[in-house]
Amino acid sequence: MPFTLANVQGRAALVFADQWYDLERVTSGHFSCDPMEAITRFTELGEVARRLTSDQAGGPISAEVLDPPVPDPAKVFGIGLNYRDHAAESGSEVPDVPVVFTKYPSCINAPTGEIELRSQTSDYEAELVVVIGSLTRDVTPEQAWSRIAGLTCGQDISDRVLQKAATPPQFSLGKSRDTYGPIGPVVVSVDSFDDPADLTIGCWINGEKRQDARTSQMIYDIPFLVSYLSEILTLESGDLIFTGTPAGVGLPDARWLQAGDEIRTEIQGIGVMVNRCR
Ligand code: ZN
Repeated sequence: MPFTLANVQGRAALVFADQWYDLERVTSGHFSCDPMEAITRFTELGEVARRLTSDQAGGPISAEVLDPPVPDPAKVFGIGLNYRDHAAESGSEVPDVPVVFTKYPSCINAPTGEIELRSQTSDYEAELVVVIGSLTRDVTPEQAWSRIAGLTCGQDISDRVLQKAATPPQFSLGKSRDTYGPIGPVVVSVDSFDDPADLTIGCWINGEKRQDARTSQMIYDIPFLVSYLSEILTLESGDLIFTGTPAGVGLPDARWLQAGDEIRTEIQGIGVMVNRCR
């Protein structure tokens, strides 16, 4: 059953009709306020959402009250070069196996969190982010969707110089500066979408559209990525997979993020994140 999960000022909340509902309160303590517990118990959330009554609403959902919907993931994966047009603009071949790197969880930021630019060569990457729901080990692609709590938006903010500073390059530090991983605004359950594998994804910088694609254009799709990773290591509830970015990043023309820039990220059926750089 469909649900939309948010983190309202540190507390798990369900969202319905632009109102938020405190999960601990509407379940009379059956759930705690912990957003990470809500993700672990994602199979129960649809039923809770179905029983909501308007008098239980905590208030209107507004960007200012939202914290990262998954505030404390154990692991955060990034997938590189997962759209052909982005591989081409990066001057890279389409990879024979997924390009997987780490974003350290300390980079996770709120859906309206400021991006603290710490280099002259920081870049934006709008991405669909998979939120793992249950312990996942050695699953087939066919089993993968059932292990996913939901989908959210992410920005894989990347320091391009740091990303390639070492020889051979190790992406993880360049992808993990503090504040470089905003996610949100909400986690939307897989069954909320007509087709969770084909969503429009876009990114605007100061109102100018830079990225415009569909998630069906991924080279390695979500079931494949979950299956592939689960054969290497155990995925746990709350783990995140940034599934790669389409073409249109700043890299080819050195259009780097500047203080004051507004990054708008939107994915169909999930919502909008707006992050300002300073
Ligand atoms: Zn990325």
